[in-house]
Amino acid sequence: MKTLLGIYIHLPLCDVKCAYCDFFSLGRRHEDANFWPQYLKRLKNDLEDKLKLVDNSHVLASIFFGGGTPSRAPGYVFEEIIGRVKNYFSGRTIHHVEISAEANPESFTAEKALAMFKAGVNRINLGIQSRDPEVLHYLGRIYSKKAYDSCLAIARAAGFTRIGIDLIHGVPGLSLKTLARDLQWALQEGVNHISAYSLTLEEGTALTTQVKAKQKHNLSQRRQYLHYQTTVALLTEAGFQRYEISNYAKPGYECLHNVLYWKYRPYIGIGVAAHSFVGDSRIAEPCSLTDYLNGHNQKIEPAIPEQDFHIGSVRLLLPQSLSRLKKIVNSETLLQTKQNYLKLSAQGYLNLLSGERFQYTQQGLLYADSILHELT
Ligand code: SF4
Repeated sequence: MKTLLGIYIHLPLCDVKCAYCDFFSLGRRHEDANFWPQYLKRLKNDLEDKLKLVDNSHVLASIFFGGGTPSRAPGYVFEEIIGRVKNYFSGRTIHHVEISAEANPESFTAEKALAMFKAGVNRINLGIQSRDPEVLHYLGRIYSKKAYDSCLAIARAAGFTRIGIDLIHGVPGLSLKTLARDLQWALQEGVNHISAYSLTLEEGTALTTQVKAKQKHNLSQRRQYLHYQTTVALLTEAGFQRYEISNYAKPGYECLHNVLYWKYRPYIGIGVAAHSFVGDSRIAEPCSLTDYLNGHNQKIEPAIPEQDFHIGSVRLLLPQSLSRLKKIVNSETLLQTKQNYLKLSAQGYLNLLSGERFQYTQQGLLYADSILHELT
């Protein structure tokens, strides 16, 4: 039997560290003349090692450059990694291998876009988040109006036809009118995939510290819900399908990398802080550039199939069952789970279905991560 496989490459450099971000990323000060040659050399070794875990049943379906800000990387990084992967999987790929890269407007110049496209990247995802300078300021992001206004035209001119953007809602200062204007702009510009995330305060980020210190305020749950409702309504009306809690696409433009991940397919991840899931194991690279470059502190743990499958199926909006939960929690937790399950349905977060099955309501989906946490 053939199994579709994804490959993830973490390119960690960013212009600045955004206040809300808990991904592993490195600021500009780490970038000197040696950075990319040295990092690429390590990536190639890492790739070679992890490809040893792949067998003949694995068929290459997707390559994804994430970060960090991949558009800060030189074109040769994409060229060399894509070349090696394609060479290795020659004759063992699906018809159209999706090759995605994330980009931010400031580093996505016409030259960079062309270099990425020529290297084989065939899907680009731009981290827009918002086009409102005040909102971007709250999020601690840099903003160049010129770059924001031109990035989608640059993507099209380079040859990209699969173009996605990331937006964040639930941000103080973001009005419903501005949110709708951003969504309309994306639709007019021919974007065919939108990831619309609700702002979450992650522990250890600058934004969480600022909110705790009351230097910045957080948005009320009611306002967050209104933002979310506006996004769902506008994108549904525009013919986008919601195929995951926060992801919307025109039919045929879903991100295969995302789908493989949530369908519990294997993937290998290379780069600092990258994760892999292949065979029965999960592998985590260290969240330290020095450790990664030196090949230290990699962690290997057994996969927990039922739990991982459950999380993926929630993300893909599939109905859930308590019997499946029974396989991943102990009986004491399950008693609590049942109580939580009834409480959450009374609060309007879950719809109860027959046979102890349930599905998230629209309201529940907004808080799916925390509900999942409460249930498991
Ligand atoms: S650009 Fe993206 S990865 Fe980099 S710090 Fe900002 S949110 Fe994080």
